[in-house]
Amino acid sequence: MATSTSSPLRLLLLAVAAVALAVLPGVSAAGLPDIKPLLSGNPWSAFQNFSGCHFGDQRQGLAKLKDYLGHFGYLPKPPTKFNDIFDADMETAIRTYQQNFGLEVTGQLDASTLAKMMAPRCGVADVINGTSTMAAKTVVKGRNLYSYFPGQPSWPRSKKSLRYAITATSQTTIDGATLSAVFARAFARWAEATTLNFTETAREADADITIGFYGGDHGDGEGFDGPLGTLAHAFSPTDGRFHLDAAEAWVAGGDVSVASSEAAVDLESVAVHEIGHLLGLGHSSVEGAIMYPTITSRTRKVDLASDDVVGIQSLYGGNPDFKGVTPTPATSSREMDSGAAAAGALSRMSSRVAGVALAAWLALVLESW
Ligand SMILES: [Zn+2]
Ligand SMILES: [Zn+2]
Repeated sequence: MATSTSSPLRLLLLAVAAVALAVLPGVSAAGLPDIKPLLSGNPWSAFQNFSGCHFGDQRQGLAKLKDYLGHFGYLPKPPTKFNDIFDADMETAIRTYQQNFGLEVTGQLDASTLAKMMAPRCGVADVINGTSTMAAKTVVKGRNLYSYFPGQPSWPRSKKSLRYAITATSQTTIDGATLSAVFARAFARWAEATTLNFTETAREADADITIGFYGGDHGDGEGFDGPLGTLAHAFSPTDGRFHLDAAEAWVAGGDVSVASSEAAVDLESVAVHEIGHLLGLGHSSVEGAIMYPTITSRTRKVDLASDDVVGIQSLYGGNPDFKGVTPTPATSSREMDSGAAAAGALSRMSSRVAGVALAAWLALVLESW
C-alpha cells in the first residue's frame, strides 16, 4: 500500500488515535493528575469556605454545616434554627465526627475534616439518639469497629429467607433486568457470609424488603438532595425500606472508574452497604469496611471486609461454607478523602496510559505501511 499521507485509511486511523486521546479524562494540560474535589452539583461544596474555622468564630452560612452535623446525629436539633456561631456544642460534635472517621481530633474545621464532610455518603446517621453508633471511641488497629442500631434490632432468628421487591423504578432509566442482576449480586455478598438467603419477588405484598428510587422529599422525612451529597438510605430491621436518590449518576454495569461523569456512583457498591443496614448493621469506623459511611464516586467497593463479616455473623451466625474475606489491594477500595481522589486520578491515568498505548500502536501500524 502507498504511504501517502492522504490515504483515507491512514487518515481514519489518525483520527481514531486523536479521538482516543481527546476523550480520555483526568489529566490536565501540564500532564499532572487533575485532582479536584467534586464541587459541581455537590450540595455540601460551600463547606470548603469554612476551612480553619474554630471555636469562637462566627461565619455566614455556618448554620448549614450545623444542619449537616444535626442530620447525621452529631448535634441535637435546635428549638428553631441553627445560628452561624462556632460554639462549644459544635466543637464537641466535630471532635466526635473526627473520632468516628479516624481523623486527627482537633475540634476544628481543618482541610481533611472538610474534605470528608463534602464526600458523598449514606444518609443514615452516625449518631442515633445521642449515642454514636460508630464504635471509634478508641481506635485500636485490628479491632473490630462494626456497630448495630440502638437496641440491636435484627430479623428473627427463625427467618432465614428474606424476600425483596424492586418497587419504585419510574424515576430511574436503568432497566429492570439490570436492576435485578445488580441487587442479586449485592444480596449474595451477605448471603455468602451468613445463613441468610435472599430472593426477589415481583409482588410488593410478599416482600420483607422494598427497594426504590426517589427524588427529593419522598414522605419519610429523609428527603434526597440531588447529585452527590446523600446517595441512599435504608431502615433498620424489620422495616425493610431501602431508598436510592434517583438524581445520582448511577452506574449499574461496566467499569465505574472510567465513567464519563465525575459524579458517577456505583449502584452495586451502595446496595451492598445499604443491605448491611437492612440487616441491622450501623456504620463502621474501619475505612475499608463496606459499612464505612462515605464512598468515593467512580469507585467500586463491593467486598465485605472482616469487620463487616464479624458484625453480621454475630447477629445471624456464620455460613460454614464461607471462604472468608478476599484481601483487597490497598488502593482498590479507598474512601472519599484526598487519598481516594489520588487513587481515582491514578485509575483515570491508567486509562490515559491505555489511550497513549493505543495511539502509539496505531503510529507503529502506520509506520509499517
Ligand atoms: Zn449507611
Ligand atoms: Zn427515604
